Amino acid sequence: MKGWDGLVAGGLVRAGVELSRLTTYKLGGRARWFCEPRALEDLRSVSLAARARGIEMVVMGRGSNLVISDEGYPGLVIRLGAGFRKVGVDREARIVRAGAAVSLPVLARRMADESWSGLEFYVGIPGSVGGAVRMNAGFFGVETVDVIRSASILDTGSGSVIERDADELGLGYRTSNLGPGEVVLDASYSVREGDRERIGALMRKAIRWRRDHQPGGTLNAGSVFRNPPGDSAGRIIDALGLKGMRRGGAHVSPKHANFFVVDPGGTAQDVFELVQDVWQLVLDRTGILLEPEVRFVGFPRDGVRQPLRGNQD
Ligand SMILES: Cc1cc2nc3c(=O)[nH]c(=O)nc-3n(C[C@H](O)[C@H](O)[C@H](O)COP(=O)(O)OP(=O)(O)OC[C@H]3O[C@@H](n4cnc5c(N)ncnc54)[C@H](O)[C@@H]3O)c2cc1C
Repeated sequence: MKGWDGLVAGGLVRAGVELSRLTTYKLGGRARWFCEPRALEDLRSVSLAARARGIEMVVMGRGSNLVISDEGYPGLVIRLGAGFRKVGVDREARIVRAGAAVSLPVLARRMADESWSGLEFYVGIPGSVGGAVRMNAGFFGVETVDVIRSASILDTGSGSVIERDADELGLGYRTSNLGPGEVVLDASYSVREGDRERIGALMRKAIRWRRDHQPGGTLNAGSVFRNPPGDSAGRIIDALGLKGMRRGGAHVSPKHANFFVVDPGGTAQDVFELVQDVWQLVLDRTGILLEPEVRFVGFPRDGVRQPLRGNQD
């Protein structure tokens, strides 16, 4: 196995890669180290070598749920490459297996083209299969937990791969039991034969709903806070009159109060401060402790106010 220096010299690990273009917020500094492994063997060598060097790492998907610090990330950022973008269908068993780097809308459309029903809801979530498993992504009344059968996972500590069944993934509302050292390699889903027209109509309806209710065409990372039981974070923030509230180049969307939008030129620090300030106002005025859904990467762990403590990669 190649050591860290060999992986850097061979170009598999690159230094100082700009991360902003890889997130939907288009924010964030550089990764000290960056790797886009083409296949499992590359991923395994890089993560084991990073561990041996004591380099911390984070895996990113399509960056649609991330706020990456303006200072970047001081460790290794892994983004799964071409070998993790395969999709295969077992027609007889009605099972789809999709690589962790597959885009969710691409997967939804591909299944629709082949008249497989079940994954229509992914059309409205701009993430990847890996991110969807980690976050138990859901939309339009369906969540990943409703359709997933299993996921294969690399433990970057030992280098071993295990297949975990759906009920072993700890999938709950926008959460899973995946640890920071665990990387989803692919996932398998149950699908059923469907009517192509009906599948297409459902997807169009979902996209229309999204367009009508959310600030399309803006820089954002979807819902900032999880909904508290029996209520909606957007409703609570809106009821406090916080739509439009601003910190530097970031503001609470006037269209959907749980979407925080960044103007061109805004910074990750602006988003970070807006999230903390809205969280504090909600707590002070209602007593409700909102929990962030977006993940924060590369922010200092010390001196951070309560809401972000448990949500840092
Ligand atoms: C406009 C917009 C609308 C959205 N709407 C929805 C919605 O309706 N429903 C919803 O659930 N979400 C929504 N989101 C949020 C986001 O798309 C989902 O959370 C998605 O699942 C994140 O996937 P990703 O690949 O972008 O992950 P990233 O944002 O890159 O990462 C998110 C988390 O997953 C981890 N992760 C990523 N890949 C892997 C992997 N291979 N193995 C292990 N961990 C991994 C990361 O470390 C991080 O902790 C929306 C976002 C946007 C921008």
